[in-house]
Order: sequence, then structure tokens, then C-alpha cells
Amino acid sequence: MTKTVNIIGGGISGLTAGCYLQQCGFKTEIFEKHSTSGGLCTCWTRKGFTINFSAHWILGTSEKNSFYHYWSELIDMKSLEYFHHEKIIDIQLSKYTDKYGGNVFHLYSDLNKLKNYLTDISPEDAPIINKFINRVKLLQKFDLPPINKKQPWYKYYNIIFKLKYLRLLPIVINWSKETNVDFSNKFKSNFLKEAFRLLYDDHEVKMFVFALPMAYFDNKSAGCPKGGSNAFVKKLEEKYISLGGKINFNTEVNKIIVENNVVTAINYNNDNIKHSDITLSATDWNLTFNKLLNGSFKNKINDELALLKNYEIFFSTILISFGINKVLNNFSHYLRFPLNEPLVSPDGTEYNRLELKISNFDETLVPKGKSLLSVNLYTKNGEYWINLRKQNLNEYNKVKNDFASKILLQVETQVGEISQHIEMTDVATPATIERYTNSWKGSTQGWLPGKKFINSSVCNYYYKNLDNFYYSSHWNTPGGGLPVVVKNSREVSKIICKRNNQKFVF
Ligand SMILES: Cc1cc2nc3c(=O)[nH]c(=O)nc-3n(C[C@H](O)[C@H](O)[C@H](O)COP(=O)(O)OP(=O)(O)OC[C@H]3O[C@@H](n4cnc5c(N)ncnc54)[C@H](O)[C@@H]3O)c2cc1C
Repeated sequence: MTKTVNIIGGGISGLTAGCYLQQCGFKTEIFEKHSTSGGLCTCWTRKGFTINFSAHWILGTSEKNSFYHYWSELIDMKSLEYFHHEKIIDIQLSKYTDKYGGNVFHLYSDLNKLKNYLTDISPEDAPIINKFINRVKLLQKFDLPPINKKQPWYKYYNIIFKLKYLRLLPIVINWSKETNVDFSNKFKSNFLKEAFRLLYDDHEVKMFVFALPMAYFDNKSAGCPKGGSNAFVKKLEEKYISLGGKINFNTEVNKIIVENNVVTAINYNNDNIKHSDITLSATDWNLTFNKLLNGSFKNKINDELALLKNYEIFFSTILISFGINKVLNNFSHYLRFPLNEPLVSPDGTEYNRLELKISNFDETLVPKGKSLLSVNLYTKNGEYWINLRKQNLNEYNKVKNDFASKILLQVETQVGEISQHIEMTDVATPATIERYTNSWKGSTQGWLPGKKFINSSVCNYYYKNLDNFYYSSHWNTPGGGLPVVVKNSREVSKIICKRNNQKFVF
């Protein structure tokens, strides 16, 4: 008999797991609290301007990256169009200029162009530049993560497959220790030193984490979908429904019902109950284990996670957007710039630099003749906004608007006076994130990766004393993101199939 699965959450985790399970013979139903699917992967439209919150780049937009094969098990990736920007980012430096007197570092996506640009700036750094570019190009030759395609000659293939990956070992060993700041010190040029140090503002990131996307920006397998997050979500939603899945919108799950260590049903919209053979929670980690399961299940790993002992929560964000009736053509779509003096946000975070996105490259999001400028301010103090909104809505709105005015002044130092051209101002805070998705403390990507280079699953897909229950979302793997989500959904679906004697057909 066909087994039924209740899926909690219609974000990318819920949709992708739903698509996998439907194709493996389960009858699934998604319960989503919001009126649309997508969760954090979303866009919203204000006065004709569509703000693309997530999915600025999706890993796996061409077959040159392994994630393309995962996405293609679910949707036709070629049916979407993607933007591939010439420059990934422009970084305005504070101290040094290049030999032409410019203070902006261009991070080109084309590796040959980047190599020529870097070498032109600093010919004496050619050996280190060449080594760096060659290593990134080598990464392009490998499926990362490795996908072991099953062949009839599988056994032999497996050996060759593993031997092939030995070539990567020196890069993995070296770049899993070295950070962008360590690497920056290798340059003789002060301009390049400062540029590489500022790749992630004040944060240090392992070179491997920097180099991998560089490899895929160059071979155009990490693109930004035309139509933004919503275009991507729509494809998954359509596929899920075409496979016979059902999505219940405006349906908030309040409780996971456990009887004698077996999950039997969910309680939603206060007093409705839906039984199923299997329950898969594809929603926020804290909500699932600390509220929906309501203490009816104890687990040491989860207790430690809840105390934030081993992992911190990923940054939340304040996204301030201005829609203007003017085209800003001569600016990078993405730039970071230093501030004359530190700016302290209402939640107490201090910023020395800001990041500004200018979008007018996608006419489906921003009307012709107009531009959308967005400043993204990461914060670890999402709770300030969440609590303020709950306690005093008027004050919250005032604080938001005052802060937006301050940010506008900073933006104008870069693009000139725009205040007369503003048609739309929008401020999304951690409270917005939490309100729409229940994401804990407004986290944007689950857990922040720890010191370990490879972050395997930090919480399990299933538990010993909680039968018929599974958990899969971006919270399973620190760092989160869309590739993590599809990989985890595939993994949990495979496990569900195995434990229910169903064939995993992929
Ligand atoms: C600003 C931002 C930019 C990003 N940029 C990128 C990017 O460029 N590339 C990339 O790969 N990743 C990016 N990410 C990360 C990516 O969007 C997330 O990792 C991914 O969308 C998480 O999906 P999820 O389904 O696991 O979680 P969620 O999106 O949180 O989904 C959980 C779902 O559960 C629903 N829900 C919550 N509570 C209940 C309840 N009680 N009952 C029923 N439903 C409930 C929520 O409404 C939501 O739909 C970005 C994220 C953010 C926020």
C-alpha cells in the first residue's frame, strides 16, 4: 500500500524532498504556514520593484557542476535563464590604489580575464597569480561533491574515480587551512594584499570556500536566475504538483503528535489533525525540536545544539532597498565600500564597510528606466528586531525608517543624490524573516560553519526513539544554502525509501 508522508514546510527543502518522494512512490502533502512556497528563497514586489531576497546565485546552473545533476533529477534547469555577471564584485579599498590611481578592485568571473587583470596590476606577483588561477581551473575538472555515477563496470570505475581525486589532495590540504587573509600576505603588491584581505570584509574565509565558487562562476555553472528566487521556486512547485503532490498554504503546524515514541500525525491551524505513515519536518530546526515536538523527545546532540555549544547561528540580515526612477548604468551590480566613520545600527552592530547591490539587469524584476538599490547589513543580533517588533510596532517602524535614512546618505556617497528619484523604500529585518518563515533568530542560512573545513551533518535525518519521523532542511549542514538543501533532501529521501522497502529510483 502507498505510504503517506506529511511534510512540514514548503521551502526549498520541503519542495525538493516532496519531488523526490513522489517520484519514489510515496503520497506526500506539504503543510506551509505562508501563502506561497519558497520560504527564505523568496522575492516580494513593492510599487513595481521586485526585491530578490535569496538565490543571487544557484550552484549547478550548468552541467559543469555536480549540483546540476541533482537539480535535473527534479526540474529542467535549462528551462530557466541565468545571468552571469562579468564582475562578481567591485571592492573599494581604503588604503591603496592600483598603478592607474584607482581604488576599486574588480573580481572578474572569467579566470583568464582575472589573471590578466591581476598580472597587469602586479607583474611581480605573476608566479602566485598563475598558481592560484591554475588551481582554480583544476577544481573545474572535478565533480564537487563527487558524484559516483553507477555504471555496469561500477567496481573498476570506483577505483579510477578515487584515484582521479588524489590529484586534488594538495589543494584540499593547503586551502582547507589557508584563509584569504593568509593568502593576501603572499602578494608583493599592497593593492592586491588589501583587496584579498577585504574579500569578505572583516571575516576570514578558507581559500577553498573562496576558490570553489570562482571555479563555477568562470564556467557559468553558478548563475542568477532571471526572475529571481520566485522563478526558481515556481519550477519546483509546478513539478511537485505535476507529480501528484499537494500543498496546503496558510497552514501552520502547531504540534507533532507522538504516541509511544512513534510520530503518528500533525496538528495544524490549532485543532486540525492529519495522520500519516511518515512525518518529515523540512522547517526550522529550533521550531521542530523545541516547539513542535514540545519536549516529547530528548537527544544529546540536539540539547548541545540548542545551547549553541558547538555552532553559532548564521547571521541574520537587514535589507534596505530603494527603488528609483533613474538608470544607474555605470555602476557595478555589486560593490562594497568603506565608510568614513563606523556606523552603528539600532541593534548595536558596528559597520565599517557597506555592501550595495544595484539591479537593473533583470527587467522582469526592475522596470525599464529604473533601478533598485539594496544594502545588506548582516547582524548577529536578530533578536533585537524580533523583540522590538513584538513589544512596540510603532517604535519598530520608526527605528527602521530612521535607519533607512542614515543608510541612504551612505549610498549617496557612492551613486550621487538619489533622494528625489526614490519611488519605493523597503526595509526587511530579522523580524521580517522570523515572521514569514519562523527562522530561528532570523537566521539566513541555518548554522554558521564552525572551524571544521568540511561540515558534515550536525543533526540526524532520523532518530532512534522517534519512529516514522525524519528531519531535513538547511539546518542539517552548517553553512546552508540551496545546494545543501537539495543534497540533504536527496539523502533523506533515499533513507526513507530504504527504511520503507521502497526503491530509490535515482
Ligand atoms: C538573504 C538571503 C540570501 C541568500 N542567498 C542565497 C544564494 O544566493 N544562494 C544560495 O544557494 N542560498 C542562498 N540563501 C540560502 C537559501 O535561501 C536557504 O538556505 C534555503 O532557502 C533554505 O531552505 P529550507 O527549505 O531549508 O528552509 P526555509 O526556507 O526556512 O523553509 C522552511 C519553510 O517552513 C515554513 N514554516 C515555518 N514554520 C512552519 C509551521 N509551523 N508550519 C508550516 N510551515 C512552516 C516556512 O514558512 C518556510 O516556507 C540565502 C538566504 C537568504 C535569507
